[in-house]
Amino acid sequence: MLFDELKCTSCNNNIQKNENITISTNSNEIKGYTFLKGWATGQKVLCENCSKNLVKD
Ligand SMILES: [Zn+2]
Repeated sequence: MLFDELKCTSCNNNIQKNENITISTNSNEIKGYTFLKGWATGQKVLCENCSKNLVKD
């Protein structure tokens, strides 16, 4: 599955299946992965760590 190869856009770490990720799109920010899968590979994907860093603002 494509999702197995997801990497964080920021730190380039592999993202675990059970990890909470943040996917940034032009219009929205979506948390979770259940229905994203292949679609997510073309998006900016942040792992859990980077997501937390980003939320500081
Ligand atoms: Zn990261």
